[in-house]
This record gives sequence, C-alpha cells and structure tokens, in this order.
Amino acid sequence: MTLPQTVAFSRNSANVFFHILTQCNLKCRHCYINPQQHGQHTLPLSTIQTWLEAFSESSHTKNLIFLGGEPTLHPELPAAVRFARKMGFGSITVDTNGYLFHDILEKVNPGEVDAVSFSLDGAARATNDRIRGKGSFDTCVAGIRQAVSKGFNTSLIYTVSRANINELEEMVPLLKNLGVAMFFIQIIGLRGKSASQEADTAPEGILQVERRKWLDTVPRIARMIAESGITVSYPKVFLNPDEKFECAGRVADNYFIFPNGRVYRCPLCEDFPIHSLVFKEDQLVSAAKLNESDFFQLNIPEGCVMNKLIQPHNLSYREDGTLEYKIACCLLKEEIRSE
Ligand code: SF4
Ligand code: SF4
Repeated sequence: MTLPQTVAFSRNSANVFFHILTQCNLKCRHCYINPQQHGQHTLPLSTIQTWLEAFSESSHTKNLIFLGGEPTLHPELPAAVRFARKMGFGSITVDTNGYLFHDILEKVNPGEVDAVSFSLDGAARATNDRIRGKGSFDTCVAGIRQAVSKGFNTSLIYTVSRANINELEEMVPLLKNLGVAMFFIQIIGLRGKSASQEADTAPEGILQVERRKWLDTVPRIARMIAESGITVSYPKVFLNPDEKFECAGRVADNYFIFPNGRVYRCPLCEDFPIHSLVFKEDQLVSAAKLNESDFFQLNIPEGCVMNKLIQPHNLSYREDGTLEYKIACCLLKEEIRSE
C-alpha cells in the first residue's frame, strides 16, 4: 500500500526558483507572472551568473529551478545550466510549457539537467488548450516524448482548478503512456491573472476548487497514480486544528527570483511589493521594511497569514467562532512514492 507522507521543510537545503525572463509564447488563463511586479525583461547571461553566485556561500545543498515566462525562450539557457552545474548546484531543473525553444534538448544533456518539468492542465486536448492556448496540448505531449526518448528525467505539473479537476483521473493512463517519472499536482492560487476580476467572472470558473472536492479527489487519485509506478506530490493545503503549522518563510530556505531583481521567500507574496530581498547593483540585500518577513512572524490560529490576507474565503469557522481547519503553508507537500 502506498501512503502519503508529508515532506518536512528541509533545514539543510536551499531551493532557488530563478525566473530568468518573464516573456512567454503562451497566455495561460491562470498565469501568475505579473509584469507590473516582476518586470518585463530578459536577464543577460552575465547577470544570471552573478546572481547565482550570490548563493555560492551557502553551505546547504542547493537546488536550482529555471523558470520564466518560458525559460527555453532564453537563448543562453544552456550556458546558464552549465554555469550552475560548475557552481555545484545539487540539482538543476528546467520548467517548460513544452515548446522547447532553441532546440534546448539538443544543447543540454541528461547529465547536466536533472529534470525537465512540463506543464499540462488537462487530460483532454480541449480542456488543456482552453486553459493554456490552442495547440499547447499536442506540443507539450510531443515535447515530453522527445525528452523521455533522449533519456531526460521528466516530470509533469498539473495545476488543479475547477476547470480540470474532473479530468485528473484520466491523467493516470496518460502519465503511464508518456513515461514521466514524477507527477506534481498544484492547486490554483489567487495570483497574477487568477486574481483578476476577469478570472473571477469567467463562466467556466477556472478558479479554486472547494475543500470537500479537493479532499475527495486529489489524495485518492494521487494514490492511484503512485500505484501505477509514478511518484506523486500534491499540496497539503488543509491542516486539522490540532496539527502543527509551520511557515516556510521562517523555517526553510526558498528564494523566488524575478528579472526586476525582487527576491521573495513566499510565492503568495509575489503579487505585492513586499519582497524581503532584492538585487541592488548585483548584490543580494535586504529590502525595505515592512516586507513579507514581517508577516511570517505573525502567529494566527488560521495558519498561513498570507492566505488569510489574500484569500480568506478559504477559511471556515464554526458557530462558536472556532476554526474547522487551518490552512497549511502553500509550500507544504504530501508525497506518495511509487512502489
Ligand atoms: S507557460 Fe507559464 S509563463 Fe507562460 S503563460 Fe503559461 S503559466 Fe504563464
Ligand atoms: S505561504 Fe504562508 S505559511 Fe507559506 S511561506 Fe507564505 S506566508 Fe508563510
């Protein structure tokens, strides 16, 4: 029997999520990239290298994830990968929408990139393309096949919303057929376009699923996928009132870097100018107060402070005012390893 295990926040490793550009060929309806907050430019290779060096002092194991926008639109992504490899990053992942620009899989090899992670948001072409754009399903599937055939460790990210939760079960045969090693389920958050009024009034409702629906669907299907031989991870989201809550901003080492120099420690903060760090003249320094780090220190019975601030409708109270559940840190994951 495969059982979910909560992945504890690591005190001994750092995760660096590096958005090297914000440009993208797609316009996904839930895109969290917010040009006003994240900038619109592409970092030159020299800046990518200098900013990566800011993490060289850390004695922790460092995991690097190249993101965008679409990171393969950056013509010097292969050089950035090789630089990071020489710097000794413990693992290097490239997240992609599957378009694999600049023949990226010809220019790096599985010894240089530990994982290529593809985003697909539907088991059916029509569902995915309604969310991510026409033609994106076929292109992504072809990209996954190409990566698998070249020997890359390949994973798939599926962002669950009301528009696609009913297709999660159909992902089981598709994942087997594609040969991916790992499946990451994410929950749609109210960031970027998802937070806009347009998304709020969308007739298809791409927005967040209700708690009961999430709990009845995601853990069950995650287990089915794990039993088919694929390791699965999904956000824990809800905690019982007596379960321990931890804020990753306080206890873990995560950095979300954007091309305008902002560095956040919490993804839920990325729509606001409350980053705790910033690259100034290529030096990583603390940002002006108040910032996200002040929010991390607040202890509230509801769990995640940022959740209470930006999506309080996720919370539910009993008649006597006590909480039905807490909201976990958005970075807390359940994992079910394949047997
Ligand atoms: S592929 Fe990623 S960056 Fe591009 S539009 Fe979609 S969510 Fe945004
Ligand atoms: S999501 Fe909430 S709990 Fe997690 S780092 Fe951000 S503020 Fe902290």
